[in-house]
Amino acid sequence: MDVKLLPSSFPAPGEQRCHYLITYLINQTVAIDAGCLGYYGVPADQARVRHVFVSHSHSDHTASLPVFLENAFEARSDCVVVHGGPAVLESLQRDLFNDRIWPDFIALSKTDPPFIKLDTLVSGRVVEVEGLRITPIEVNHTVPTHGFLIEDDHSGVLIASDTGPTDELWRVANAAAHLDAVFLEAAFPNEMQDLATLSKHLTPAEFAGEIQKMQRPVKIFAVHLKARFRDKIKAELDALRLHDLAIGEFDHTYSF
Ligand SMILES: [Zn+2]
Ligand SMILES: [Zn+2]
Repeated sequence: MDVKLLPSSFPAPGEQRCHYLITYLINQTVAIDAGCLGYYGVPADQARVRHVFVSHSHSDHTASLPVFLENAFEARSDCVVVHGGPAVLESLQRDLFNDRIWPDFIALSKTDPPFIKLDTLVSGRVVEVEGLRITPIEVNHTVPTHGFLIEDDHSGVLIASDTGPTDELWRVANAAAHLDAVFLEAAFPNEMQDLATLSKHLTPAEFAGEIQKMQRPVKIFAVHLKARFRDKIKAELDALRLHDLAIGEFDHTYSF
């Protein structure tokens, strides 16, 4: 399985990319979140993506969904399917495709060649697409949010999305047939624990606690480091001396 973290910052040569917006591309055909999916490649690259799983409604995970749907539109009946929990789909309808922020692609799809088909995710119920089995797992964030276990016949990856300390995610991860890597957020430095708690994100100290819930050896990638605090968060993650921990590199394809 190939996992690519799409880039959303364009630094000067030699400078680090920042984690501004979130999209993971799986095998070039399935996206987890659409923060920067609409800014990826050329329209033909985007049209290859037939399924988008939206973890939650926050705009760093949804910002480019309208642009993506426009770029991926091929006037075919088998249009892009957007998968999300009930709260996500309701927010997309009310807050994004509302004929103010963007044309109501959901209504337009009922009469004309469709832009978008919606699929309601149920926590714990597996969705099979493009040779992948994707399990949405409820995590602990300020709005209803799913993490995702993504499996094929010989590999597995866990994308935790945005979450504070959580348990069900790790129960599912520990029971998975294959698990090669975990992408876990570390959004705020330890000194900002109050804000992390309020906004239901993790600090490096909490990150270490979450990783201890894993009962199997896997590669761990820290992601979603708030750009303004990146160096501090990275130093605190390094100090954990966790085996197999790396900062998730954007615009890089990981193969499992
Ligand atoms: Zn969020
Ligand atoms: Zn986020």
